[in-house]
Amino acid sequence: MNKKPLEEEKILQKLAKYKNKDLNYSHGRILGSMCTKADPLAKKIFCDFLDSNLGDPGLFKGTQSLEEEVIKDIASFLSLDKPFGNIVTGGTEANLMAMRAARNLAKNQNNIITPEIIVPKSAHFSFKKASDMLNLKLREAELDENYKVSVDSVEEKLCENTVAIVGVAGTTELGLIDPIEDLSKIAFDNDVYLHVDAAFGGFIIPFLNDMGYELPNFDFSLEGVSSITVDPHKMGLAPIPSGGILFRDKKYLDAIAIPSPYLTSKEQHTIVGTRLGAPAAATWAIMKQMGREGYSNLANECMKNTYFLADAIKKEDFELVTSPELNILAFNHPKIATDELAQLLKEEGWMVSNSSNPKAIRIVLMGHINHSHLVEFLATLREIKSSLNIN
Ligand code: PLP
Repeated sequence: MNKKPLEEEKILQKLAKYKNKDLNYSHGRILGSMCTKADPLAKKIFCDFLDSNLGDPGLFKGTQSLEEEVIKDIASFLSLDKPFGNIVTGGTEANLMAMRAARNLAKNQNNIITPEIIVPKSAHFSFKKASDMLNLKLREAELDENYKVSVDSVEEKLCENTVAIVGVAGTTELGLIDPIEDLSKIAFDNDVYLHVDAAFGGFIIPFLNDMGYELPNFDFSLEGVSSITVDPHKMGLAPIPSGGILFRDKKYLDAIAIPSPYLTSKEQHTIVGTRLGAPAAATWAIMKQMGREGYSNLANECMKNTYFLADAIKKEDFELVTSPELNILAFNHPKIATDELAQLLKEEGWMVSNSSNPKAIRIVLMGHINHSHLVEFLATLREIKSSLNIN
């Protein structure tokens, strides 16, 4: 550490060197991220609320009201009138809270000693963290031929130790929507907790349906759904960290309440203690600025780009893993190994990611990627093919 204080100018100069090493969403080269460039208004509001601590909400009653309003606004497009939940650090914390609620409630009700959760093989790795941290046995349900969870496999794995079933609305790797309606029926009939991880899909599926898409239902209108993760810092355009967890009933929050004696609130439900109020305020602002119409237009634009790229790469002999349901594409070329292709793209400045099941190049068509970026990307794909003597 420096012994003497540094002048502001020197600090800024040094920081600029680090910042220059970071990639910038605006360049359109970040093709594998579910996060995107935060909106300028949301960034400003974030800074305005930097001192507010929702871990001690009695001191920040205004910010607490903003958090409640955001949760209510999100619930309005997930078919729930009276939601209970929080703006948290992201999908991981939201999923952890849901699994904790499910485990605690089941333990209280049924005296389960070795609790298990049934999670699709395609689920985000945050459920592995939940399994590890909460001592839950992870039972991975198989996928069907379309990479969605197999309802038969979920039913096979259901037993007296099951405390939760998880379905995903917008899988991390392929952007697919599990058959949540079927899972809801199983959960309801067996009195088991169903959590829907719509961290990605929650902020796009309802808006695409507004635009006339007919995507399957995944929300609280299905009676078996107990909780939903939905992240403003993905398709909601909010600055990081902004995740969302919504519960159908207060009993789920009660099941994860821990007394917080020295603070202005009686109890806390989140994993994090001291927690920024800025994400709730910034999310509130961006949601007001976008409105349902703004999110529908964004969703539609992202899908237009997705279909354009899907068609164009097929013409270049790339093969899609599956038809896109949301704005995520995964593909391979029969004559190029996935890792090699990812590396060659990286050398040309394109940051794609790889899906693991199946192995493929994965592209998330977020709002920071526009048509001209895709035209450039296609030119790079053609150059790579020709450098490898593939016609
Ligand atoms: N759930 C899904 C479906 C995701 O795609 C992700 C992240 O990509 C998460 C949960 C975890 O979210 P976070 O990284 O915000 O904790």
